[in-house]
Amino acid sequence: MFRYSIHKGKCMKKTRNTRQRGVILDILKKSCSHPTAEMIYREARQVLPNISLGTVYRNLNFLRDQGAVREIRPNEGGSSRFEGADTSHAHFHCVHCSALLDIPLPAALENLRFKEEERISAVSLIDLHVMGSCSGCEGAAAT
Ligand SMILES: [Zn+2]
Ligand SMILES: [Zn+2]
Repeated sequence: MFRYSIHKGKCMKKTRNTRQRGVILDILKKSCSHPTAEMIYREARQVLPNISLGTVYRNLNFLRDQGAVREIRPNEGGSSRFEGADTSHAHFHCVHCSALLDIPLPAALENLRFKEEERISAVSLIDLHVMGSCSGCEGAAAT
């Protein structure tokens, strides 16, 4: 599509960026483990051997600002985790291992309105995080 443009350098750069973003989005769509940028970088290198970690970060920030990707910052610190932002759901964090699970947003929250709250005009996202022990760590937590 950009082949006939006279601004060749500029368009080639755009095409490359689009390809990198496509690869990163693909990785996020296929993964359900909420990978870190480093994990995405390792995956992306299988397809784009020359991609750098900085490029992955830049693309993730861009996609996040566009609303295509969600960044999840763990409360306890550590690396941000990323996911494709196509469904609204809540997150369960296991405090023992670093498991980060998708859980359905409680229906009561999904339909939450702030009718009496004059300071809020619209709600675009409800970001609910639940902490606890995952079933794999349950035994360890009891002892
Ligand atoms: Zn766990
Ligand atoms: Zn999620």
